[in-house]
Amino acid sequence: MIRVRFAPSPTGYLHIGSARTALFNYLYARHVGGKFLLRIEDTDIARSTDESTRSILEGLAWLGFQPDEEIVFQSNNADKHRAAALKLLEEGKAYRDFTPKAEPTDKNIKETIADRARQNQGVKSMRDNPFRDLSKAESDAKAAAGEPFAIRLKVPVEGKTSFEDGVYGLSERDYAEIEDLVLLRSDGHPLYNLAVVCDDIEMEITDIIRGQDHLTNTHKQILIYEALGKTPPRFAHLPLILAPGGKKLSKRIHGEIVSMTTYRDHGFLAAAFRNFLALLGWSPKTEQEIMTLDELVQSFTLEGIHRNNAIFNFDANNPKRWTDDKAIWMNAEYIRTMLLDELLPFVKAELKSAKLWRDEYDDEDKAWFENTVNLIRERFFTLKDFSEQGRAYFSEDFDFDETAVNKNLKKFPDLKVWLPELATRFESLEDFTHDPIHETVGNFAAEKGAKLGQIMNGARALLTGLAVGPSMLAVFETLGKEKSILRLKSQIAWNL
Ligand code: GLU
Repeated sequence: MIRVRFAPSPTGYLHIGSARTALFNYLYARHVGGKFLLRIEDTDIARSTDESTRSILEGLAWLGFQPDEEIVFQSNNADKHRAAALKLLEEGKAYRDFTPKAEPTDKNIKETIADRARQNQGVKSMRDNPFRDLSKAESDAKAAAGEPFAIRLKVPVEGKTSFEDGVYGLSERDYAEIEDLVLLRSDGHPLYNLAVVCDDIEMEITDIIRGQDHLTNTHKQILIYEALGKTPPRFAHLPLILAPGGKKLSKRIHGEIVSMTTYRDHGFLAAAFRNFLALLGWSPKTEQEIMTLDELVQSFTLEGIHRNNAIFNFDANNPKRWTDDKAIWMNAEYIRTMLLDELLPFVKAELKSAKLWRDEYDDEDKAWFENTVNLIRERFFTLKDFSEQGRAYFSEDFDFDETAVNKNLKKFPDLKVWLPELATRFESLEDFTHDPIHETVGNFAAEKGAKLGQIMNGARALLTGLAVGPSMLAVFETLGKEKSILRLKSQIAWNL
């Protein structure tokens, strides 16, 4: 039975990189029929916050990654971590380090810098801790006398660790490059690598899929597995996600913290965002890009993960494009092509939160609502567009886009008289549908010696406030005779 886990530290929000790690673990577990578990690594007391845990859980819930077993909170296992460290000490695989905690004085800061410099030149061995080879009796005696100590792993002197990474292949490191890592601090606090290994053993994790930034930890963790007499799980490290130009991905875009819930709040569909995330550093064997969750599960393999870093491609200079262009494109594709019945509840929620929802849309105006959503979704990118760009379909109180007003109206002053005149023609139309509207506008334009497009664009600006949108005949029909007439006669946009 394959068992994987997503193990975020609640020291920040659920960002793109960790959400993708969660997704890959989830897809892998589903693909092989295994289990997907969640562990909150809340051992860094100073930096972990409940708010962060909440945001991570909310983000995961939004994306639909429910763990298959109860969530594990790492801090609950501290006693087990301490016991493991003591066991290693008992077996001589770890040792007590009585080096006093240095007060940061000018002198020892200078010494530390000198030490580091020597280490970097390979002069200082990682194994010259004076307490490493203290006899058991001496060490016990010092401990019994109450001298504080940390517990360090006794890393072997010669040789190397190696493992076969599921993505990057063979990875090796000389023991000489690994310090005798601290397992337990002198205050009894278990440290990260020990905690992770103990918990992964306890949770019977078979495969660890996580960011490439953990590669150095992996070598240390393998040493801990070996010291504990356990077979390490399989490891697969994921490429980094970088900003354009290979820069580190910032936690904020245009000053806004970007977490999964931010995407939700900006009108992304979880299905679309999941699909986008899946393609950040992974691809199926085909050219297919739009994939349902089932399709992702079917085709997900570790072999499909790229070795080169993924780029999160957004234009930081364009405040409208605050996220990756492909993410926006993908979201638009979903909005445009998903089953209308699946989209409607999201539009309803959006209109409700913008106070544009009317109960009639679920009742006598249901057909109208469905047709309208279907009409306007063609050009929309996020769910927000339904309440912002699409506002004129649901409210009389909508804004006029400056470009639309200048380009489609004010540039042609004749329209100021013509469009109300067209409205009067509409008044005598019995049947306010596509063909009669087409004929009326066509005749009207011919009479005035104007281009049809000029009349239609002007009408679009007055009826929707925008310069682009669905076919104007459909817009007239959807808004209906009364509203079309009212808006064609309105002088609001002309007076802006
Ligand atoms: N808690 C670690 C992190 O958030 C992940 C540890 C792991 O996956 O082993 O980066």
